Amino acid sequence: MKKTVLSCIQPTGEMHYGNYLGAVKNWVDLQEKYDCFYGVVDYHAITMPYKTKKLREDTWSLIFNLLAVGVKAENLFIQSLVPEHAELGWIFNNFASYGRVQKMTQFKDKSRDSTTKSKDNFISVGLFDYPVLQAADILIYKADYVPVGKDQDQHLELTREIASRFNNQVGKEYFVMPETLHTESPKILSPADPTRKMSKSAGEKHYISVFAEEARIRKQIRSAVTDTGEESDDMSAGLVNLFTLLKGAGADGVHDSLMKDYQNGDLKYVNLKDATADALVAMSNGFREKRAELLADKKEIKYKIKQSSRAIRERAQQTLKEVKDLTGLMNV
Ligand code: ADP
Repeated sequence: MKKTVLSCIQPTGEMHYGNYLGAVKNWVDLQEKYDCFYGVVDYHAITMPYKTKKLREDTWSLIFNLLAVGVKAENLFIQSLVPEHAELGWIFNNFASYGRVQKMTQFKDKSRDSTTKSKDNFISVGLFDYPVLQAADILIYKADYVPVGKDQDQHLELTREIASRFNNQVGKEYFVMPETLHTESPKILSPADPTRKMSKSAGEKHYISVFAEEARIRKQIRSAVTDTGEESDDMSAGLVNLFTLLKGAGADGVHDSLMKDYQNGDLKYVNLKDATADALVAMSNGFREKRAELLADKKEIKYKIKQSSRAIRERAQQTLKEVKDLTGLMNV
């Protein structure tokens, strides 16, 4: 039996190089070997202030973006077309420790962004609870592996705790413990502020879109912060980030030669920035071309994704049925 892989991404704005190099690149590679489920999680996207009219547009746009970078249609689903995630999430609320959920650092970061995005300092209960829904996303497919960035390690730990409490309660090793899979670049930093991660929710200058035009990429890389002013023998976080982007974009040879320059003390920052911009531009141009091709078949592709969501839903329904039997809830 093939092992199962699950991972998700929120339809909140554009896909950036943190998402791609930290997680989605792995999604593509793992498709050969495993049974893969990849979700565009719109139930998660509504945990932050958002525009109702834009959500569906963003959801479809992310689907086309994922297809353009190489994710297969049959592995993709839209979360709200599989509402069993939300039902299992509710059940899991009762197996998740309140004290533990309170410790999630993502909630602390995102609640700060939520208050700046709303007019009345709003933070939703959904935002607090989203790691529990995430546990349902993972366990509903009984995933063995979860390819995500480093920012998700704490949530995976919580998922395992929920699974284990559930197993204890029902007296059976029903859920397997899912493991995290990281890429070689599990944490990409913001080019404008390398003390924080690259993220959509932090604002435009903090992420580089995978589908950005050449001029924008060059501008963002040219103005990337390389020194934070602190004296240290270690390479600065901003430089590490440029090297990581360069390697992630597949320019291994240039990367190694510039790294040698750095070690010899004669790296010119402008050379590193130019090489990184060249590599990202080449990659983004390829992705943009592919996306344009896919957009020509918009209707057919949307139909395909609804079909794949329906097929994937059957797997989720089976798990939920078993969970309801095990927990004493009713099945029709
Ligand atoms: P965001 O944090 O921008 O809202 P998502 O929560 O939708 O993005 O994350 C989708 C995937 O991308 C997750 O697997 C997450 O771990 C990964 N990811 C997000 N930001 C980064 C980053 N800066 N570096 C590495 N991986 C990241």
